[in-house]
Parts: sequence; structure tokens; C-alpha cells
Amino acid sequence: MESLVFFSPVKPAETPEQHARRAMKIYDKAGFAQQIVKDDLVALKQHLGEKGGDGYLRPPIATAFARAVSKAGGKPFVTDSTTLYRGQRSTAVDYLNLCQAHGFTAEALGCPVIIADGLRGNSQVMVKIMGKHYQQVPISSAAYHADALVIVSHVTGHCVSGYAAAIKNVAMGLVSRAGKMSQHHGNFPIIDAEKCTACGTCARWCPAEAITVKKVAKLDQTKCIGCGECLAVCRFDAVGGAWGEVAERLQEKMAEHCLGVHQIHRDKICYFNFATHISSECDCFGIKQKAECPDLGIIAGSDPVAVDQATIDLLRERRSTDLFHDLRPEIDHEIQLRHGEDIGLGTRKYKLVTVK
Ligand code: SF4
Ligand code: SF4
Repeated sequence: MESLVFFSPVKPAETPEQHARRAMKIYDKAGFAQQIVKDDLVALKQHLGEKGGDGYLRPPIATAFARAVSKAGGKPFVTDSTTLYRGQRSTAVDYLNLCQAHGFTAEALGCPVIIADGLRGNSQVMVKIMGKHYQQVPISSAAYHADALVIVSHVTGHCVSGYAAAIKNVAMGLVSRAGKMSQHHGNFPIIDAEKCTACGTCARWCPAEAITVKKVAKLDQTKCIGCGECLAVCRFDAVGGAWGEVAERLQEKMAEHCLGVHQIHRDKICYFNFATHISSECDCFGIKQKAECPDLGIIAGSDPVAVDQATIDLLRERRSTDLFHDLRPEIDHEIQLRHGEDIGLGTRKYKLVTVK
């Protein structure tokens, strides 16, 4: 069986409003409004940006989805979960303050923002799955109790999984802190003392207080949860490790957490990937990042595996080379898709429908 995937190519330098209009054409063409019945509480899952970052999808996109959901009779709310690391989103209060600064206000969106996993990231419901690593996963309570979901993902590279879009957006963004921690558990980076300048950035970002910096940074493996933040934030290439093996385990765990959310909403969930301003790192990094290639377009469907596979394939076709492999040749970023298929999250076979 193949899944239907919709694709709307974008032109260079289009605005978020233009991208939103294209997404709405897909929403209509795919009939996603039919997933909603009157008064459904509909979660619009979108990364709302880390402080200092500029790659995140802007408010007009969430606003367009909120309008479409309201028109279909649903009650939309924009949602995301708190983070493990100590940025500006590690509690619901901090995150909501940042939402204001980024323009995700109730006035602009036409609906509220609700942090999915509660004040301190521990509002969760355990969901049974049949996975290789898990028999149950902790889903954020808002994702669990919503009647329908629209998953809006910004396509980026990622320092540990290589590729981040629909599966990762759900796996990390709609589970509780315990779920995030469990996915990262068991990965230990190594600090190269020769390269370390003792700048202290890694220690500031480490969510587990596992790094102390004196003459060089030192890592305490008994505290480390393997999140990879230190690897991503070190500007001196001083953090390394066996990330190929880490990437495999993390991606499999991501697919299994995504399954926990997907299976409870199977007929009332759709996924939109925005392959625009594709950066090397995800939007959790509070830095400005350059686009690694020209904008591709918007890819959507109700199967996260098929939507992510189509995104990778379309980019590969456009560039004649795989961007995510080029960025990190040591990581096989399609493990999340193969494992997703193995556990019944979706299929890598799809039929592409172009929407202009
Ligand atoms: S960020 Fe890099 S250079 Fe700075 S203290 Fe950490 S390991 Fe050393
Ligand atoms: S991977 Fe790095 S940032 Fe994450 S917990 Fe371990 S030491 Fe801290």
C-alpha cells in the first residue's frame, strides 16, 4: 500500500504568508478538514522558535491553519512542549513569554497557545505501543487529549539524527520531558581537551549539569543524558563521540515515540513539512543559521513516514545529491524511516500529487 503525499513547490524568496496560502491549498485538496468534527479540540503542533534563532516557521503559518480548523468547526490551539536543555523554553512560563516576543499571540493566531506537557514538562499520559525499545511511551497530555492534530514541521538537519522533520517534531515535541530524556539516554559525547578553549558554552546549555569547566570542559557520564546539545553548541569542534551508533538508537526511539502519538489519532492527524530555509541544525539552536539550499516547497499527508521520505526524495532529486548526507556523512538519517515502517508507523512508498 502506498500513501498519498501532496507537494506544493515554492518560488525563491516567497513570504511566510505565501507559504501559508500554499499550505492551505494542500489542506483543501487533501480534504484534511474532513478529519475534524464540530467542537473538536485541534492541536496545531509547531516549533515556536528558540531565543536568538531565526529559522522557525513564522506566526502567519500557524494563523492560517487555525483559521482552516475553525472553518471546519474545530477549536484550534497552537502547541509545543518544554525542552530538556536550559534555553528559553524549559518551563511553560518561559516558553509562553518567548511566544509573545516571537509574535505567537492569541490576537495574531486567533487561538490560544497551550504548552503540551504542562508547567514543568511532566504532564503526560503513558501510551502502549509495540516497539523494539518500548512497550509504552509518555505522550504529552495535550497531544493525548486533543481530538485531532495538525503537525507543522520545519525541515532541517540535526546534529544527532541527521534529519529532522515530521517524525522528529512529534517524537521530541509532543512527549513529556521523561520521553525526551529516555530517547537521549545512553549517548555519551567525548570532549577533546586539545581543542577545548574552556569557553563554557556547553556547560550553559547542558540540561543535566553534567559539564564543569575549569581549564578545559569535563563531562560526568553519570549525569549525562546524551542529548547532544554540547556537540551542537561547541564552536571549536571539541565535542565528538561515536555518533553513528548513537544516531541509530536515537532515530529508532524517535520513530517509536512518534508512533505513540500517531496511533491514538490515526484518522485525525495530518503532517505538513515546510522545506524552506533548510538549516544544518534544528530550530532549538538560538543562533541565526544560513539556508543550506534553495527553498523546495511544502510536503503533506497523513502518514509521517511517507511525508518525510517524500521530503528527502524531492530534495535529493532537486539537488542530485542528498543534502543531509552531505551535511553529515557519518549519519544514516533514513534509519527513522526504515524503523518507522518496521513498527507500523507508516510506509516509505507513496504517490505524489503536485498542488500548484
Ligand atoms: S563549548 Fe567546546 S570549547 Fe567551549 S567549553 Fe565546551 S567543549 Fe570547550
Ligand atoms: S550530551 Fe552534552 S549537553 Fe547533553 S547531557 Fe550530556 S554533557 Fe550535557
